[in-house]
Amino acid sequence: MKKFLLSILIIFFVSIIFIFKNDSVAQKILEEEQNIQINFNKEISIKPHDKVIQGQTIFINIKTAKQLENPVFRFKDKEYKIFKIAENQYFGMLGINTMEKPAQYKLSMYDKTGNLNDNAFINVVIKKYPIQNITVTKKMSGLTATQHELNQIGKAKYLLTEKMYGSSYPYNSPAKGCIISEFGLRRYYNGKFSGDYHKGIDIKAPTGEPVKSMTDGKVIFAEKFRLHGGSVAVDHGHGVMSLYIHLSKIVIKPGEFVKADQKVGEVGQTGFATGPHLHWGLYVNGTPVDPMIDWIKPVNLCK
Ligand SMILES: [Zn+2]
Repeated sequence: MKKFLLSILIIFFVSIIFIFKNDSVAQKILEEEQNIQINFNKEISIKPHDKVIQGQTIFINIKTAKQLENPVFRFKDKEYKIFKIAENQYFGMLGINTMEKPAQYKLSMYDKTGNLNDNAFINVVIKKYPIQNITVTKKMSGLTATQHELNQIGKAKYLLTEKMYGSSYPYNSPAKGCIISEFGLRRYYNGKFSGDYHKGIDIKAPTGEPVKSMTDGKVIFAEKFRLHGGSVAVDHGHGVMSLYIHLSKIVIKPGEFVKADQKVGEVGQTGFATGPHLHWGLYVNGTPVDPMIDWIKPVNLCK
C-alpha cells in the first residue's frame, strides 16, 4: 500500500513539473514571435516592435481583467495616452518620426494603480528616403504661412479625443490618382536642402477631383489658408488626424461629422503648389506618419 501511495505521489509531481515546463516554453515562443507578454491575467501586444521603419505607426493592445487608471506609455521623454476601448481592453498608438535615429528604444507602460507596469523594446530601422528638388519661383517663395494657419494646424495635430470615430483600417485613398510624391522625401528647394521632409503624400489628380475623408471623424477646420491653400482637417479620435490641402473647393464645415469616403472638397492648386494635387497628411499624436504603411490599401506610384 505504501509503495502504491509513493508511486502515485511521484506521478503527481512529475506531471506538475511537466505542465509548468510546457507553459514556460509556450510563453517564450509567444514572446519571441509576437512580443506578447503574459503575466497573470494581462496580455500586451506591440506591433511592430522588432523592425519599425522610420515614419511607421506602432499599435499597442492591452487586455487585462485588472482595473487600470489613466494608463499611459512613455517613449523617449514623452508620455502618451492609452485609451480604454472596451471592457478589459486598452489601445495606444505611437507615430515614429521619419527623422528618428535608428536604434533600440524602451517603451514603458504604466498606470496609477500599478497594475500596468511593463516595458517593451522597439527597434527603429532606417528607410532610405529619396531626395526631391522643387523649383521655387519668385512668386512662390514669397508665400509664407500666416500665424493663424500655423495655430490652426498646430492645435489640430495634438487633439486627443477619447472616442475613436473611424472604422478599422486599411482605408481607401482619399483621392483617385497615383502618388507623385511619397511620404518622407527629403526636400530641396532650388537645389538647397530645406532641412525638412515631406510630411504627407501627394496624389496627382486633376482640379475638381473629389477629396474624401479617409474614415469617420469630426471636421476640425475647413478654410482657405495662404500657404496651405484650401484646407480641411478631420479628427478621427485617439489622437489621429488627417489633413487635406491645396483644395480648390471645400464642401463641409467645422464641427460637422463625416463618414468614411464622404466628400470634403475638391483637388486644386491653391497655396504653395506647383500643379494640381492633393497633399494628404496623417498625424498620430502630433507626429506625421506614412499613410502607406498599414493605414490604406495599396496605391500606385506615378510612372
Ligand atoms: Zn505634399
